[in-house]
Amino acid sequence: MSASLNLGRYSGIKVQIHWTFWLLFIFIGFLVIANEGGAEDLFWNFLFIFALFFCVVLHEFGHALAARRYGIGTRSITLLPIGGVASLKDMPDDPKQEFVIAIAGPIVNVVIAFLLYLIVPVENFLVDDPELFEEQLDGINAANFLFYLLTVNVILVLFNMIPAFPMDGGRVFRAVLSTRMNRVQATKAAAALGKFMALIFFLFGLFFNIILAIIAVFIYFGAHSENIMIQQISLLEGNDIRDAMITDFTTLKPDETLQHAVDRILASTEQDFIVAANGKPIGILFMADLAQALREKSRNTPVREVMNENFVTLEASAPLPSAYRQFRRGDRNFFPIVDNGELIGVLDMNNINEFLTLRAAYDY
Ligand SMILES: [Zn+2]
Repeated sequence: MSASLNLGRYSGIKVQIHWTFWLLFIFIGFLVIANEGGAEDLFWNFLFIFALFFCVVLHEFGHALAARRYGIGTRSITLLPIGGVASLKDMPDDPKQEFVIAIAGPIVNVVIAFLLYLIVPVENFLVDDPELFEEQLDGINAANFLFYLLTVNVILVLFNMIPAFPMDGGRVFRAVLSTRMNRVQATKAAAALGKFMALIFFLFGLFFNIILAIIAVFIYFGAHSENIMIQQISLLEGNDIRDAMITDFTTLKPDETLQHAVDRILASTEQDFIVAANGKPIGILFMADLAQALREKSRNTPVREVMNENFVTLEASAPLPSAYRQFRRGDRNFFPIVDNGELIGVLDMNNINEFLTLRAAYDY
């Protein structure tokens, strides 16, 4: 299940709500009713969730727009019950840029908190009288709504700045470490601290706040996978695409038939093919498109009618880590490799993984 509610594009960035987000309303609704709250309490609590998540979206836009300054696009901003995620297409190698992108989110909440501070009579709430203090903050209502919103923005800043990589504070931590050691070591250290903090969050969350426990799981695996990714990139460093590309591959001519492609797929381990004319790639025939086309067209249809002409070629002399990043960006997974415009190879993620496995084997 990945049904997301699309809220449209803002500044060119898609904003969507993941279906699990609505579970939060069930959870909060359950809590309100368990505390003998009525319809009015439900209304204010639900309104508060929307207001809170509006602030979270602005936080994510802080990251996304800061990343755009460095030419890094954002696929989407997704709301989950545990918070927001801005899916950046890449992460900068430059620690200064990472620092700016990471800090831009929490700064948005600082600004929101400050603006609320200007209009909320905070001193009326922070009274010495414990009874009055409790009474005023007993459940969210019209009178204390903005005070709660201010408080939660302050909490968002503090929580996000905890150095639990890959949370914002953890990224800031790695950026700072990167000025003293190389990126692989900095990531290793930041990820180790991130995992340790995640374990503490998890234990604490199990007893006091189940949402924190869920966040902890995401932090743990996030730290783990990003650490591995950085290690892999370091293994690829110093190599060109030429070193890893497939050179033994089938090229289809534009006039060859779909049946010919079917025969090749069954006779080999290849699935996707480059269609080339005069030694130059002009399209890619993906197996999925081929299967789709066979439902509608004759087997004698020329591949030129089914091939995908929207493809990106990579230069054989380009560094291998840049190709790895292209794959990570996830838009495409199969690249024709050219040298002076001539097709000389193919690169897919399987091949990079093979390269990594073998490279790791003779590196250690
Ligand atoms: Zn953030």
